[in-house]
Amino acid sequence: MSKFQLAIDGPAGAGKSSVSKEVAKRLGLDHIDTGAMYRAVTLQGLRLGIDFKTETDFTYVEDIDIDYKNNSIYLNGECVDKEIRTSLVANNVSVVAKQKIVRDKMVFIQKQIAENSNIVMDGRDIGYNVLPNADLKIFLNASLEIRAKRRLKDIQATGIDIELSELMKQIQERDEKDSTRKINPLKKAEDAIELDTTNMNVEQSVEAIISLTRKRDR
Ligand code: C5P
Repeated sequence: MSKFQLAIDGPAGAGKSSVSKEVAKRLGLDHIDTGAMYRAVTLQGLRLGIDFKTETDFTYVEDIDIDYKNNSIYLNGECVDKEIRTSLVANNVSVVAKQKIVRDKMVFIQKQIAENSNIVMDGRDIGYNVLPNADLKIFLNASLEIRAKRRLKDIQATGIDIELSELMKQIQERDEKDSTRKINPLKKAEDAIELDTTNMNVEQSVEAIISLTRKRDR
């Protein structure tokens, strides 16, 4: 049986994870948040005491077990959904995600998961690298201010206080690093449909994507 693959890429805070999760739920597909995988690798590095400003050896990734199932991310069997959402992880993840050894392992796992399921996968390189033959590719975007405001809400919900301007700076820096790295940068696939969600809420974004999957079926 042929598999259904939906690839959703975009910059930080564009709403990829929440939108993808809901689209997957309504269409009865599995959902993989690939950003959570890179965050888990970063978390492990921080736990090992690695200083990402100076470290050049990322072979520790070979010894870790990363799994994404039932909307949760597992690092060596431990669910780390909460631990991967800190600013410390967010501010170091781009350094980890640009390493060839890390990407080779993560992309291999992602392709393997996609082979065995009908899937919505969100990330930065899904449409042109991980699932180049996806049935539908979406590039989710929104203004920097709106993206930062969305992230601010999530962060404040965890009891952490941060200025909007500081968060905008952090997000911009991360997007810059993700877009300019040599291997698998943040990039819209040529055949992806761009969806600007600046003036859309999660529900409207979900509806828009579901409607695109239906148009595709016709
Ligand atoms: O989506 P999220 O913001 O959680 O992603 C965290 C980081 O993981 C990104 O900033 C990027 O550095 C990395 N990433 C990546 N490739 C992907 C998904 C995420 O490099 N497919």
